[in-house]
Amino acid sequence: MGTLQDLLEGLTSGSIEVIDLTAPLHRGTPILALPEAFGQTEPFQLHEISRYDDRGPAWYWNNFTTGEHTGTHFDAPVHWVTGQDGDDVSQVAPRRLVGPAVVVDRVAQATADPDYLLEVADLEAWQDEHGPLPAGGWLLYRTGWDARSDDPEAFANADDTGPHTPGMSVECARYLAEETDLLGIGVETVGTDAGAGHAFDPPFPCHAFLLGAGKYGLTQLQNVGLLPPTGAVVLAAPLPIVGGSGSPSRVLALVER
Ligand code: MN
Repeated sequence: MGTLQDLLEGLTSGSIEVIDLTAPLHRGTPILALPEAFGQTEPFQLHEISRYDDRGPAWYWNNFTTGEHTGTHFDAPVHWVTGQDGDDVSQVAPRRLVGPAVVVDRVAQATADPDYLLEVADLEAWQDEHGPLPAGGWLLYRTGWDARSDDPEAFANADDTGPHTPGMSVECARYLAEETDLLGIGVETVGTDAGAGHAFDPPFPCHAFLLGAGKYGLTQLQNVGLLPPTGAVVLAAPLPIVGGSGSPSRVLALVER
């Protein structure tokens, strides 16, 4: 029996479960707001073409508008100035859209402190317990922030000093970019960097270091809490937008029960 046949039998019997890590995409999907000086992304929006009416009696369809970086989405290297010579989202090799995933759980810490930052020492302790971070795989950073994704205000958690959402330290981002063979990192927040990452040195270190190293980002994931610390396989499926810096993506995980 072939490996793919075994996989199909596992899916049929339920010994392999498919978990959707994707947030539903709609007009209320939270988006990033930058300071006024900068260009802004647009929310996701449907524009009805016809719905079984005189515009099209037997069919329903829509156009849609959206930013590339809306909802659960994929950051390609070319998204950041440090990765400008890297792949756009259409150039990411299909082989690199399927890989193992591990989960680092910091729900307790991020619940107690919305500005919580993951540190290199946390990753070293995790690896002492679970083994090395997977080559050609994802580090999924669980913070519990997905519970806020139906409420854009709570999701952004901003005040006079800017957004307060969990992330990782500059040194941690540098470590993941330079000292690991990960595909990239996945987070539950609106972007891979902490809400306060604009004030770090360098600013937005996850973007700067990881995309600069040819790695990727996945954002606004949900259901990461249903995955084991190790052993899941993730399929991340951005649209192959030619020249695109990223794309809304369907992200699925296979988990053995
Ligand atoms: Mn993005």
